[in-house]
Amino acid sequence: MDCVKQQTGLMIETEQAIYEVIFGQIQIEITGICNMRCAHCRAANDQKQDMPIPQMLKILRFGRSYSPSCKELLLSGGEPLAHRQFEEVLSAVRENGGDFITLTTNGSLLTSRHLDLFAKLRSRSEEAYQHFFNSFCLITRAYRELNS
Ligand code: SF4
Repeated sequence: MDCVKQQTGLMIETEQAIYEVIFGQIQIEITGICNMRCAHCRAANDQKQDMPIPQMLKILRFGRSYSPSCKELLLSGGEPLAHRQFEEVLSAVRENGGDFITLTTNGSLLTSRHLDLFAKLRSRSEEAYQHFFNSFCLITRAYRELNS
């Protein structure tokens, strides 16, 4: 019996072995800028630069081609909301395969304008939206209890 293995991952050959790498998650550090200076964080000392949008899309497309079943895209920094073109970034990654976008944010720069944008770009899948919305409700309830 012949076994035919379909290649889906990125093949990396070393002198010892050949590896097939399938990305489980794509994370892009879209900026080195942050409005805080936490002592433990390298963002406090890194070069303060925003990644250009075409470079992000290049990374996203490359990662997508080796992670066929992974839908999540994580945008981090620095502080992602501090990217000078954040709104354009979010729209661009959404239109180019960012089906489920997670932001690693300290939240301090969040405005109602961002919330409007999130609502506009929200998942077209009602099931996915409901899943995240339920998580959001649990977190906000826990946060209120901590502050009461
Ligand atoms: S990226 Fe996060 S941990 Fe680092 S300085 Fe900013 S808020 Fe602090």
